[in-house]
Amino acid sequence: MSVPSRASVVIVGGGIAGCSVAYHLTKIGVTDVVLLERRQLTCGTTWHAAGLVGQLRATRNLTELAKYTADLFHSLEAETGQATGFKQNGSISVAKTPQRLEELYRGASMARPSVSRSSC
Ligand SMILES: Cc1cc2nc3c(=O)[nH]c(=O)nc-3n(C[C@H](O)[C@H](O)[C@H](O)COP(=O)(O)OP(=O)(O)OC[C@H]3O[C@@H](n4cnc5c(N)ncnc54)[C@H](O)[C@@H]3O)c2cc1C
Repeated sequence: MSVPSRASVVIVGGGIAGCSVAYHLTKIGVTDVVLLERRQLTCGTTWHAAGLVGQLRATRNLTELAKYTADLFHSLEAETGQATGFKQNGSISVAKTPQRLEELYRGASMARPSVSRSSC
């Protein structure tokens, strides 16, 4: 495949980060985006990922980003016709220490602002 000699945006690396940047730029209307991958799309660290899309993160922004990602993975097949194979199974977090339990409570309350400790 020939590489365009000019482009508004050139992204180096076709892992999840590069593909996501390309997807979102074109989604907002940037038409000449070039993604350069030295081998094969997603052949890097992305290929090794287990595919877990954790929903509870350390900050509210990261938690919202994770929620956006899960929603996007749900809708991508309908939008693009490409099956992602995404299956949302859920997960269970186990705390071995009171400190870790506290961290889990914090994550849960960030994900669901109305959640109370007694209902976690
Ligand atoms: C074993 C393992 C399991 C994981 N499991 C999970 C999980 O379950 N959930 C999760 O969210 N995360 C997981 N991760 C983390 C996740 O895989 C990475 O955070 C993510 O894939 C990083 O994506 P990336 O696009 O930044 O990098 P990469 O996927 O490594 O993409 C970089 C790309 O750039 C290309 N490249 C590099 N240099 C050049 C160049 N000069 N020119 C052109 N192309 C170039 C490479 O070939 C590669 O394709 C896991 C990681 C590992 C190792």
